Amino acid sequence: MAGEPQADCLFCKIVAGSVPATVVRETETTVAFRDINPQAPTHVLVIPKAHYPDAATLAARAPQLAADVLREAGEVATEDKVDGSGYRIVFNTGAGAGQTVFHAHAHVLGGRGLEWPPG
Ligand code: IMP
Repeated sequence: MAGEPQADCLFCKIVAGSVPATVVRETETTVAFRDINPQAPTHVLVIPKAHYPDAATLAARAPQLAADVLREAGEVATEDKVDGSGYRIVFNTGAGAGQTVFHAHAHVLGGRGLEWPPG
């Protein structure tokens, strides 16, 4: 069921506190934590606490929650002081695009030059 915690979901376990994470921000509806394999000086994942498999499903079924994730991505960039130089918010969607954890998450990447188009 969309929104319900999934027993086999890594990010649901981070929300529950049973898997540790370096949390940088938390709200009633979201958690932001540092990526375990950072691809930039700032690489933070922002997730909804509720489980949705990807960003499109999140936006379709819980648009206010999707907005919460986007707002928090901006707050992370401000707190890490990468907002002035520019940063990227990425939602890999589907295995073919590199999604490996099927709990919606925004990557916030900044602190270095970012190429376009991305790889
Ligand atoms: P995806 O490939 O877009 O699904 O992104 C998943 C991200 O989760 C990758 O960048 C991983 O490095 C990151 N990741 C995997 N396990 C953990 C963890 O336990 N803590 C923090 N980040 C993780």
